Amino acid sequence: MKMTITLLAAASLSAQQSPPAQPGIHWTEEQLQQAVAPARAGQRLTPKSWPNDSRVAVCLSFDVDNESYLLARGETSPTTLSAADFGAQTGLPRILALLDRHQVPASFFIPAVSAILHPEMIPAIMKSGRHEIGVHGWIHESLPPLSRADEDRLLNRAIDYLTNAAGKKPVGYRAPAWAFSQHTVSLLRRAGFLYDSSLQAMDEPYELVSNGEQTGIVELAIDWTLTETPYLGRGGTMPSPELLYQLYKEEFEGAYEQHTMFVLTLHPHVTGHRAPMRHLDQLITYMKSKPGVWFATCEQIARYVKPQ
Ligand SMILES: [Zn+2]
Repeated sequence: MKMTITLLAAASLSAQQSPPAQPGIHWTEEQLQQAVAPARAGQRLTPKSWPNDSRVAVCLSFDVDNESYLLARGETSPTTLSAADFGAQTGLPRILALLDRHQVPASFFIPAVSAILHPEMIPAIMKSGRHEIGVHGWIHESLPPLSRADEDRLLNRAIDYLTNAAGKKPVGYRAPAWAFSQHTVSLLRRAGFLYDSSLQAMDEPYELVSNGEQTGIVELAIDWTLTETPYLGRGGTMPSPELLYQLYKEEFEGAYEQHTMFVLTLHPHVTGHRAPMRHLDQLITYMKSKPGVWFATCEQIARYVKPQ
């Protein structure tokens, strides 16, 4: 019996670890160039100085996913959905209260379905007049497997919904799960977005280049370490937010020394819990204690650095 279990475990382990297919080993130089061409880093856009001679630009951003990504997959478990509903019921109100107390702005990227299920969220975000609302898909759909027509339809539906709900057309985009398809950049150009915040090629603002063309779209890059879901979310690997916030603090200090930009991306259904909220409060307090920190929305930063 024990042997059987060990063998089964070994078999499932080897199934999990079987190496991925490697078509790239056969690609020509031209095919390699084509593979990377849809979304590339262009010119660096960190300005000579930030407004009021600030030393660094800080954008606190929140991806207000709540239940949307679960519903996209057809998840209907009330228990699972309730843990995501936490973002709307408890997380977002706590975050808005914290930002009010510190009087700092933030950018909120919202899947339209998230706002449909919780119609009180957008008015609550808009109330202070400091915050920005950006697009984060229709239902947090995964873009890479979609046809261009489906991606286009869902993008326009999301833009229309948020424009109506917020009374202002969003100018910023963050891809659901931060995952572009081959079509995303051309759809963003056609929709007239000022900036994107989904890619990760530099930790300072840059211009998005697509298939060799300058797009004029500002990229305000994010990073898998500058978010909390892999560490504190469901299946996360970190027992306490302490180490994570130490990393955020050091990333901020580096941006401060380099006079560039610090973008943090958090999720109300994860960060809205008590322990991470305490650390977020402390991080904002620390950043505010340094001279010359420009807290801004992603929109304000993008308008400031946009190439003429
Ligand atoms: Zn998301």
